[in-house]
Amino acid sequence: MAGERERLHNLFPDLGFDPEALRAKYAAERNKRIREDGEAQYIEAAAEFVHYADDDPYVEEESPRDAVNIDIEVAVIGAGFSGLMAGARLKERGVTDFRIIESGADFGGTWYWNRYPGAQCDIESYCYLPLLEETGYMPKEKYSYAPEIFAHTKRVGEYFGLYENTLFQTRVTEVKWVEEHSHWLVSTHRGDEIRARFVVQATGPANRPKLPGIPGIQDYKGHTFHTSRWDYDYTGGDHSGNLTNLADKKIAVIGTGATAIQAVPFLGAHAKELYVFQRTPSSVDLRGNTQTDEEWYASQEPGWQRARRENFAAVLLGQSFTEDLVADGWTDIARRIGISLMSRSQDSNLDMEEIMLRAEVADFQKMNEIRGRVDEDVPEDARAADALKPWYRQFCKRPTFNDEYLATFNRPNVELIDVSDAKGVERITEKGVVANGIEYEVDCIIYATGFEITTSAVRRVDFDTIGRNGESLYDHWGEGYRTLHGLYSHGFPNWFTIGINQNGLSPNMTAMFDDQAVHVSYIVNEILSRNLRTFEVTEDAEDSWVQEIVALAGTGATAFLEECTPGYYNREGTTGEGASMQNSPYAPGINAFNSLLRSWREKGDLEGLSLS
Ligand code: NDP
Repeated sequence: MAGERERLHNLFPDLGFDPEALRAKYAAERNKRIREDGEAQYIEAAAEFVHYADDDPYVEEESPRDAVNIDIEVAVIGAGFSGLMAGARLKERGVTDFRIIESGADFGGTWYWNRYPGAQCDIESYCYLPLLEETGYMPKEKYSYAPEIFAHTKRVGEYFGLYENTLFQTRVTEVKWVEEHSHWLVSTHRGDEIRARFVVQATGPANRPKLPGIPGIQDYKGHTFHTSRWDYDYTGGDHSGNLTNLADKKIAVIGTGATAIQAVPFLGAHAKELYVFQRTPSSVDLRGNTQTDEEWYASQEPGWQRARRENFAAVLLGQSFTEDLVADGWTDIARRIGISLMSRSQDSNLDMEEIMLRAEVADFQKMNEIRGRVDEDVPEDARAADALKPWYRQFCKRPTFNDEYLATFNRPNVELIDVSDAKGVERITEKGVVANGIEYEVDCIIYATGFEITTSAVRRVDFDTIGRNGESLYDHWGEGYRTLHGLYSHGFPNWFTIGINQNGLSPNMTAMFDDQAVHVSYIVNEILSRNLRTFEVTEDAEDSWVQEIVALAGTGATAFLEECTPGYYNREGTTGEGASMQNSPYAPGINAFNSLLRSWREKGDLEGLSLS
């Protein structure tokens, strides 16, 4: 340790801050938030609060229809961006005999459900909104707001004629392989029986609202909802604000992640009193949104969107690039911190320890700026400013970007309540929220507590998938995900999943989903055009991929996350060997993953799949 301290000092003699002191502060702040119950602190919304997840506040009621009893080629489950992309890419290849099954009343997934005031995507719209070239759409701004994104999902649906393929307001209850007919039987809550040769499970990584198991949570007698089911009947207004019904209301918001950062400025502007209960502050960077320059947009050459997405991914992973095309908060952080610890530096004289130290120091500098921004933006309330400073490394939690959130705490009607010492809100009563021994009586509690991203997969999708020999997919994955390329599993013939595990992960999720959809549609088309009945991943191919994922995951990301403040990135601080390594993405990143899939397709022998 003494050697490392000396090395730090030699490398950075004039830092102006003490890295050792920052390390100690980060560790102390982490430790005070670690809970023994880890992920178990979150209760199962399905069982305890079914209305939080299953209610749809955006439609009056379920529109009636007869149960469907059909034989089709493909059943796609989910009509968020992943299901939409699967549908679009299938149609592109001429596969039209499919149904998309979706619980919402329209396309959009995340963007169907999340309509809270201020909802916006933090990934540049030119990268995030898929199929811009195909649909000829120009996003209004560099960062799109939720209504524009939701509208784009409908545009894609219309462009590819997907409405006629989709069963909305329909929840799948079971997916079961029927060996004698070599098809899947998909059952739904509407009594449908859909027999499909292929199933594409596109249920999304953040589909299920997450609720903290705060003692007394069920006793509350006031109004309450989760941010992903925003109740505009109660608040008044819409996505752009005007929450005028709150003028005489006391509101509590629990949670200060990416969602709360966007919604709180609107609540602060309209509520009579607003209490924001914060366990861990987010890192809030500059947003600086801009209108799209029409001339620039029109001048883009065909193929520009893919090139831009790949460039974005390359910059984020510290891979080779000539120009940072996106040039925003994400890429600024990535370039400065050099998050690619596997792609060593161009300077071959640097050893791994030095690369790590340089990355850590750049991180400290970046986070010092973020903390400095808090002081600048919250001059009126020194106590709040102090509590709003994040003490962890930048990528321990999803970075956020917003230009109004911090300043909201200067308002006299807004109070920040730091609940970090108690590891969260203490209790909910009939009348309100108890924190630090004080009961805050409120008219409404809004849960901005996020989504079940790392809880058990079956709990998140809420239906079972039963493969060959009656095996549940979730038993097959009991010790961690088992797939080839994150897309299909042994024992589950003609079955795909589009998602975030064991494949090329990117914060630009739509790009990932699109690339996986391209691959899925290729395989479906190959099986159909070769007059085959089934494909199934061999056990060997699945084993090899799992081993590769684990071997690559061991290179640093896990160690990094272990030192992080708790959150869903590190399973509430419980990251370790075993399943978490196995559930990792493909460490070389999305561009490398896509070129691997491309080569696999180009070879044309469907390697690793047994065919019949
Ligand atoms: P998060 O999971 O990021 O945040 C949940 C919040 O609830 C955290 O602040 C958490 O605190 C807090 N919390 C949980 N339990 C308690 C408790 N018992 N007492 C007090 N506080 C508690 O959810 P979000 O909805 O904000 O975001 C989820 C994800 O959705 C994001 O990470 C992002 O991936 C995506 N998203 C993306 C956006 C975009 O721009 N693309 C915008 C919004 C969301 P703690 O941190 O201490 O656990």
